[in-house]
Amino acid sequence: MDKTAKIRLYVDADLGTGQAVAMSREQAHYLFGVMRLEKGALVALFNGRDGEWQAEVIVANKRNAVLECHRQSKPLQMPPDLWFLFAPIKKARTDFIVEKAAEMGAARIMPVQTAFTQSERMRQDRLQAHALEAAEQCGGTYVPEVTDLAKLDKVLADWPADRQLLFCDETRVGQAASDLSQLSRGPWAILIGPEGGFSAAEVERLRAMAGVHSISLGPRILRADTAAVAALALWQRALGDWV
Ligand code: SAM
Repeated sequence: MDKTAKIRLYVDADLGTGQAVAMSREQAHYLFGVMRLEKGALVALFNGRDGEWQAEVIVANKRNAVLECHRQSKPLQMPPDLWFLFAPIKKARTDFIVEKAAEMGAARIMPVQTAFTQSERMRQDRLQAHALEAAEQCGGTYVPEVTDLAKLDKVLADWPADRQLLFCDETRVGQAASDLSQLSRGPWAILIGPEGGFSAAEVERLRAMAGVHSISLGPRILRADTAAVAALALWQRALGDWV
């Protein structure tokens, strides 16, 4: 039986049969300093474009580590066309939201500034690195893009006409969790508010927009990070790639 690598790494380089791929210094340290791999070991590589490849270590040197691609072990699997919009909260919880959104199969992760958003400065590059690590560990072959923080008003002003939006609306707390099974498939987005919730003006605007579905996530007020996972699970089960 073919051996399969236990370690997965994201790389920028193109992947294909016989392709030699140089590791970054951090990756080389991880492979040979931390995981103690040796020449001949297999590592799974993906780049978000060419699927996953089994690659053999051909140069095992902490400064000059090179792997050679042997065979494709997974094709590229694109996630459903789902944007995940959320208002950043405290750093650790924002990190959690990005990690979970990537694992749960969001195609694009979009932090938005709402009226009551009270976050510390948000670093897009850190959040992108979290999405990448999440893809490495969950077996994904695609890395969702994390966009820069944008004002919710502006995002809604430019909203594409064909994209439906699941608005997680805390004013519906107490209602049964919404059933999404009757909604139509296609491009979608999910929006989760900050700890302070949405302003009355935001709720009014969202409810008035075409293609926006105001939904309940059940009888209790969920923290934003919990609400993120709950909404992604409901959507994936009804309209995404869990079915
Ligand atoms: N401060 C708000 C309040 O007391 O009503 C709660 C905000 S909640 C912590 C953060 C976000 O999670 C909300 O803006 C909403 O998007 C979502 N959320 C939490 N529980 C929800 C529920 N039961 N139904 C719909 N959305 C919910």
